[in-house]
Amino acid sequence: MRGCIKVYNTAEKLVSEIIKPGLCSGCGACIGYCPYIKSYGERVGVVHDCGKSEGTCYKICPRAVTNYDDLREVIYGSSESDPVFGHFEGIYYARAGDESIRRVGQYGGVVTALSIFALETGIIECALMTGSNFARPKPFIAASAGEMQACAGSKYTASPNLSLFQEAIKKGYQNIGIVGRPCQCTAARKMQQVEAIKGERISFIIGLFCMGSLSPEFLKFIKDRRFDEYEKMDIPGDVKFLKDHQETSIQYDEIREYIRDSCQICYDPLSELADLSVGSTEYDYGWNTLIIRTAKGSHLAEDAVANGIIEIKEYPAERLSLLRKAVFNKKKRVLGRPDASYLEFSDKERLYFLTNGGDA
Ligand SMILES: Cc1cc2nc3c(=O)[nH]c(=O)nc-3n(C[C@H](O)[C@H](O)[C@H](O)COP(=O)(O)OP(=O)(O)OC[C@H]3O[C@@H](n4cnc5c(N)ncnc54)[C@H](O)[C@@H]3O)c2cc1C
Repeated sequence: MRGCIKVYNTAEKLVSEIIKPGLCSGCGACIGYCPYIKSYGERVGVVHDCGKSEGTCYKICPRAVTNYDDLREVIYGSSESDPVFGHFEGIYYARAGDESIRRVGQYGGVVTALSIFALETGIIECALMTGSNFARPKPFIAASAGEMQACAGSKYTASPNLSLFQEAIKKGYQNIGIVGRPCQCTAARKMQQVEAIKGERISFIIGLFCMGSLSPEFLKFIKDRRFDEYEKMDIPGDVKFLKDHQETSIQYDEIREYIRDSCQICYDPLSELADLSVGSTEYDYGWNTLIIRTAKGSHLAEDAVANGIIEIKEYPAERLSLLRKAVFNKKKRVLGRPDASYLEFSDKERLYFLTNGGDA
């Protein structure tokens, strides 16, 4: 404080508005430009105030004020979009054409197959992904097909992949791909607009569906319960751990307490701002849901289908209405929370949720 005038400081704002109230999503976007912001595993902390009034950290944070209409305008040339699914050109069931990718993929391996295809066709030179396994997730710059395949599989904690963006810049990559949760896609879209950090080098974004990620304490929980000895984890209702055809499961309620507070105010379970969004089908676990959102995403997906990289099939109408209902309910819940005040979009969109029921 200087006299009675509060000195505006970006790092201080990041701490008081985002980190202290527990709203940090662990995306990693604020790490790497500023010597005062550090990550400890999947926790982010500001070790010193910077005194800067116009810093990047706050500007690109997905939990700082986020005007969806402005971002949509920049990405799609219009702020109009489906209030539940976001802007999209098509929704399909999809799976990787290559059986070896399907085997390592979380579901149909579409993210891995499309990332490798984007690499091999020169759209990206590397992608920020999550390496290792679900018990020891590690942000990773994957720059070969083998490295991308090694990153396959979901790790359900935050994995601050965007923390490696500056390292990718230092390595000289001009076209950087992002694979990330919805908050990471939002941050990546904000980063694209910041020349000072070379955000324009983000050239393709594959977003994951995400109804919530787990806190770093979850990693201790699985270690204590020795679930870290398993190879794969999945959350289709119950929580499953799998290894060599062995499977064990626990009830979802046992891990509910580990959901990050920040995820409770997430309005975007389908990575609306990505070029392509990919999730499960919650029905057939050998397939993914693929949402095509941008022209760039559409070209890549069309080429991938033409070259046998992925197979697609029609989305069953009854499954689509279930997805719509789940996303509608999540968004409506979030809009009712006082701590979701960072969200900005038209009154029309807000009214849609306030005046409709789950079958809208
Ligand atoms: C925290 C979390 C929550 C999710 N919740 C849902 C959900 O509620 N409903 C749903 O339908 N789908 C959810 N998903 C997405 C789903 O688990 C699959 O990632 C998605 O369907 C893609 O499947 P795939 O077979 O194409 O993946 P793969 O081909 O195996 O590729 C997965 C990719 O995801 C990356 N990745 C893994 N973990 C993370 C992470 N923590 N952060 C960023 N990138 C990561 C890997 O690097 C890899 O590139 C969630 C994913 C995560 C990480």
